[in-house]
Amino acid sequence: MTDSLPDADPYSEADTLTGADGRVGSDAFAAADAVVYDLDGTLLELAVDWDRVAEDVTAAYAQQALIPPTEDLWKLLDAAEEYGIAAAVEEAIAAHEREGAADSRPFPLGERLLSREDTRPAAVCSLNCEAACRIALETHGLDDAVDAVVGRDSVGTHKPDPEPLLAAIDAIDADPDRTVFVGDSASDGVTAERAGVAFVSVADALADNDI
Ligand SMILES: [Mg+2]
Repeated sequence: MTDSLPDADPYSEADTLTGADGRVGSDAFAAADAVVYDLDGTLLELAVDWDRVAEDVTAAYAQQALIPPTEDLWKLLDAAEEYGIAAAVEEAIAAHEREGAADSRPFPLGERLLSREDTRPAAVCSLNCEAACRIALETHGLDDAVDAVVGRDSVGTHKPDPEPLLAAIDAIDADPDRTVFVGDSASDGVTAERAGVAFVSVADALADNDI
């Protein structure tokens, strides 16, 4: 079964109509000097059954005779540190992601990026582990089209914290004011807002036919 990466932080609705500078999304996308893309659901789709991942993470808690404090996968990952099982939980998730990355399928934005018609600096900022991101990109020949990859384990925090997005922008020597973040979830919008970066929905990025 294939499913979209569950939203890490869906409590805040992203404004998908206008970017930080008030432009509509497709105009903001066209005007940017650099682009950071979310991965799953944006450039491609990982073949991951997230219900199974949650079951395995719950099992990692159970193996230590621990009662999971929540049913939310990403909260279970965040809580694992204080429960002393961070490595086991991270690996339980990452194993599914690496497998699903090798079996991923490209989405239209990924296919367009692969065409190399867009020559702007590009990076990926994902909630997936970095290894899975790289496997997925390599699977579709997108690794050469992306100049930097920041996954949930690349820096000290993960989306919707702004740190990974800003790290991705820094890695491609881009200016946050001249960069857009393209994503498919409310959490991506929150990430962009917190980083002070214009957010562009996948639909608005695809609507720009000049790229
Ligand atoms: Mg996504």
